[in-house]
Amino acid sequence: MSGPVDDLPPGGSAPEPPVLEIGASREANVGGMRVLRALPRKGRRTVGAWCFADHLTPVPNAADIGPHPHTGLQTVTWLVEGQLVHRDSLGSEQAIRPGQLNLMTAGNGVAHAEESARPVSGMLHGLQLWVAQPEETRHGEAAFEHHGVLPRAELPGGVATVLVGEYAGATSPARHDTPLVGVDLDLPPGAGVWPLRPEFEHALIVLSGAVGIDGELVRPGALAYLGLGRDELALETVEPTRAIVLGGEPFAETLVMWWNFVARTRDEVDAAYAAWTEAGERFGTVDTTLPRIPVAAPFWQV
Ligand code: MN
Repeated sequence: MSGPVDDLPPGGSAPEPPVLEIGASREANVGGMRVLRALPRKGRRTVGAWCFADHLTPVPNAADIGPHPHTGLQTVTWLVEGQLVHRDSLGSEQAIRPGQLNLMTAGNGVAHAEESARPVSGMLHGLQLWVAQPEETRHGEAAFEHHGVLPRAELPGGVATVLVGEYAGATSPARHDTPLVGVDLDLPPGAGVWPLRPEFEHALIVLSGAVGIDGELVRPGALAYLGLGRDELALETVEPTRAIVLGGEPFAETLVMWWNFVARTRDEVDAAYAAWTEAGERFGTVDTTLPRIPVAAPFWQV
């Protein structure tokens, strides 16, 4: 579903109108926090290499997510409100505040914990995104990076902060292993036209407020898939709005995603599950008082 159309009839045909698929996010519970899972969803597994998007709706800031493993992906954490502390099996310990970016590359394996900063107060609002790593890097070393300041592009319609990739002449320092973009849009009431790369497929998630796209209203709790081939996106707002635009070249590899693992086969998932359950060296240890998160065996094993 995410690849370009390559079976056009002979003789060419008129361009299709731009795609706009607005799909509801699913409610999920992560460490006791209510999240809206925008991606993956039925019929839409990836947008570029973006393969997972959890919107932490404003919730009391009491995150206590104990050590858990990842493989084959990068976690991208972006907050609008509140503060978290990240600890991982590489020895990283890093607080993250609104406007900053945490990016952890799992490669063959890493473990991390995410906790509210003490003393706990206020609300937590943000996004955790995953990026599928390509074959060339997914078996490689784990890594962690924190970016305290990200580049911004001021456009007539608002301010774009570039989380990943290049946008409107501003380039994020964050690592990406495939052609990718992630942008936060801070939109005052009004209308604006935002440049896009036509060779990327894109999607938009509203964090707060609402945007009009092609005559449809998009609110928090949905993912608006915008397809390939758009070179710009017209957005209308009637209230202050924050939205995230994700894009990238369609990801060509077929993913097998189970729990916190992004793999290609069930055998790979089985091996990662066994390594976590046996608490061997593959995922290392995280320096925290929180307990490790256990998980039941994949359904195909029982
Ligand atoms: Mn995680």
